[in-house]
Amino acid sequence: MRILVVEDDASLNAQLKNALEDAGYVVDAAADGEEGHFLGDTEPYDCVILDIGLPVMDGISVLQRWREDGRAMPVLILTARDRWSDKVSGIDAGADDYVTKPFHVEEVLARVRALIRRAAGHASSEIRCGPLVIDTKASKALVDGATLKLTSHEFRLLSYLAHHIGEVVSRTELVEHLYDQDFDRDSNTIEVFVGRLRKKLGHDLIETVRGLGYRMTAPDEPAEKAG
Ligand code: CA
Repeated sequence: MRILVVEDDASLNAQLKNALEDAGYVVDAAADGEEGHFLGDTEPYDCVILDIGLPVMDGISVLQRWREDGRAMPVLILTARDRWSDKVSGIDAGADDYVTKPFHVEEVLARVRALIRRAAGHASSEIRCGPLVIDTKASKALVDGATLKLTSHEFRLLSYLAHHIGEVVSRTELVEHLYDQDFDRDSNTIEVFVGRLRKKLGHDLIETVRGLGYRMTAPDEPAEKAG
């Protein structure tokens, strides 16, 4: 899962980025509204954390522009405690949730998890696929009740597929959501990771859809084969 943090307070920006990376997300960061708007407009994010008080272009304008242009990713806004009107304008502009400063970073992480889950249509913090359970809260995966030993890359890949159960996910989409903007994007590495994941899973949960990508399906509910 790839997250964008738009916050001009450098230490807060770094704090959020570090906490999100520790939680297993790939994070891009921007320090002003213009840069933030550009990134959100050109890169696919699973969630955006957007400060309202930003230099160059304020957060409300950034959000309004994204929504006018049909950018539908979940957006969590950061508002100042004494600015209740920011929450109203932010939600009216298309924010999905807000956190008031000062906040505990754990609260931001919990809200980000919930937004990503809901965007993928999952109400619970656990995602199930046959014998596989993804615990999004603890960032771990279990098969037949046993915790899988996964690298952070493998977990991200598995979690992304699990958030999109039954959907065909292309290699390009995976690369875009699993690596930050500076990564040398070679989609062949995805194939290697999928191979390793399949071995660790020990169950046939990740199907290769020839020419299109991958699809996670539970063994008892086989998907229709694509053309
Ligand atoms: Ca600010």
